[in-house]
This record gives sequence, structure tokens and C-alpha cells, in this order.
Amino acid sequence: MIRLIDKLCEEHRLLPEEYGQLLCCKDSRVLHRLQRKAQETAVRRFGHGIYLRGLIETSNRCRNDCYYCGIRAGNTALTRYTLADSEVLACCRQGHALGFRTFVLQSGEMPPSADRPLAALVETIHREFPDCAITLSVGERSREAYALFRQAGATRYLLRHETRNGAHYAALHPPGMSLRHRLECLRLLKELGYQTGTGMMVGSPGQTTAHLVEDLLFIEAFRPEMVGIGPFIPHRDTPFARHPAGSVDMTLRLLSILRLMLPGVLLPATTALATLCPDGRERGIQAGANVVMPNLSPPAKRELYALYAHKACTGAESAGGLHELEQRLNRIGYTISKEKGDYQHV
Ligand code: SAM
Repeated sequence: MIRLIDKLCEEHRLLPEEYGQLLCCKDSRVLHRLQRKAQETAVRRFGHGIYLRGLIETSNRCRNDCYYCGIRAGNTALTRYTLADSEVLACCRQGHALGFRTFVLQSGEMPPSADRPLAALVETIHREFPDCAITLSVGERSREAYALFRQAGATRYLLRHETRNGAHYAALHPPGMSLRHRLECLRLLKELGYQTGTGMMVGSPGQTTAHLVEDLLFIEAFRPEMVGIGPFIPHRDTPFARHPAGSVDMTLRLLSILRLMLPGVLLPATTALATLCPDGRERGIQAGANVVMPNLSPPAKRELYALYAHKACTGAESAGGLHELEQRLNRIGYTISKEKGDYQHV
């Protein structure tokens, strides 16, 4: 088993059955070495600075009905909101004053009529904050829309593939949605020159080790610039309300494998991880993550963007909150990096 970790460090890839063995391994010595090697690799690449991304949840309206997600169209218990452009800009101004140099605009999936207004908003942000990167996470859109956003100044895009297995994808999504289309969107994003992020939930309903191996092989071949993974967490108003949450340990293990597979990848310690355990961000960083995404959304709207139960919120929108995050990172030997933190091709 130790041999597999050395192989992953040196060759950045494993055979499918070897990924499977690592995912099933129960030997704490091996798992400790995996984590240590991943952390060393991240530090060698990025030092002890953790990149900040300011997350702005611009709307909880969504036309999709993903069975796992709290903002799915079928959830009629939810009060819907869309931030006005002026509110999004206010979030950016607040974040910029605190030192944020990347804004991530995330929302549910909107109809095509929302494409031009979003492009105009991106352009306004880009004009006012030319020193900042704009990341979008607004789902499956047309090639034209992706090109429009890119032209407006967005340079990064997050679109998790969710699962690389077709049958599993169909178990998590309604018939109108397809894995084929999701993958085609990812291909388009790369083609248009976005730094592209993908990923999956860990422990989503029906997920097996074999599915996770398929996910790893897909990520290995796709070579994304960012990978977002976090545990699945049930939401009471979804068909998966009674399904147990994903495992923190398996999420950490996957973060470490991903760090060794793609040493330069931008890898967040996600909110979902922080939701399941109070020191989830710290543990994610110690497993090889190098990005945190504090929430810059207006506090009054945050609980309406409930993808899952008890979503964690770092109060980094205030100077005090950011200071607390910095202190938490300091305690494990890290600091906040105020750099834009682009993916470095080497
Ligand atoms: N609509 C965009 C999209 O589909 O990419 C962005 C918003 S979507 C809510 C962002 C991510 O939240 C999804 O890719 C999914 O992996 C994650 N998510 C949704 N429901 C979740 C849950 N119950 N537990 C953990 N993560 C969840």
C-alpha cells in the first residue's frame, strides 16, 4: 500500500484497481502517509498561504430539480431571492476592502434570458475591480452564454460533474438532465479558455467505491484547474432527506489523492466539510487543500441558500471574521494569501 502512495507521488496516476485499494484501505499508517505526502506537496507548490475566494450566492432560483439539492425547483417550502446588481456590487466592495481578490458568483440555474444581464454584471465587476478574478458557478449554459461571460471578464468556472457514472447520475437527477450534457459543458468551458473546476459530492446516495474510482479517472484525464469536493449532506425538503451524510474521512482521503494526482490544482476545503466538523477547513488544508471560500453574501439571504442542513458560514464578511479565520489558519501553521491565486501551468 505504501508503494501505491509513492507511485502516485511520482507518476501522478494509478490503475483503477489501485485507486480502489487506496479508497478501501483501513491501515492508519498508510492513510497517515497519504495525508502527509499530500500536505507536503501542497506546501511545496503554494507555501503556507491559503487562497481566499469570496463566495456570493446571487440567487437561489433554479430551474433544475437535482434530487439532493435544497434549492431544487421542486422545493416549494423555500422563499426565493435574486440579489440586485447593486447588492452583488456591495458584496464585492466589502470583500475587496477586506483583501479578497477573487469573487465567486454562484446561483441556481437560470433560463437563457438571464445570460445577458449576468454578462453585464460580470462586466461591471470586472471594470470596477480589474485586479480581481471573477469565477462563475451558474450551471449548464449554452456555448454562446459561456462565451459571453468570458468576454465580459469571467476567467474561471466551477461546474462539478457530480458523478462520472451514467446510471448513478440518473439516480441523482431527473430525466431532463444528462451526464452527457454536463460533460459537454465542461468541455466547452475548457475550450473557451476558462480555468475550469469540476468535482463531486462524497457519499451521495447510491455512490460506490467503483463510482469514486470512475470520478478519479475522469478528473485525471480532464485535468481541471480546480476540483471541488465535499461530503453530501441531506436536506429535509429533498427526496434524499433521510439519506446519511457523506464521510469526512473519505472526503479528506480524496482531497489527498487529488493533491498527489494534480499537484498544482486549486483545491478548496469546502463549506460542506466545515459543516460536518468544526475544524473541517483546517483538516482539509492538512489533507492537501489550499483554498477557502468564505461567504460574502448578505447575511439576511444566506439561510435561503441552503443546499443542505446546517450549512456552515464563516463570518469572514467582517474584518473580525476574517481575523478569526486567519487565527485558525495560524494555529495550524498557515496564513491567508491575499493573492488572486491563478492556476499555474508548469
Ligand atoms: N447551479 C450550479 C451548478 O449546478 O453547478 C451551482 C450551484 S449548485 C447548488 C453547487 C453545488 O452544490 C453542486 O454542484 C453540488 O455538488 C453541491 N450540492 C448541492 N446539494 C448538496 C448537498 N445536499 N450536499 C452537498 N453538496 C451539495
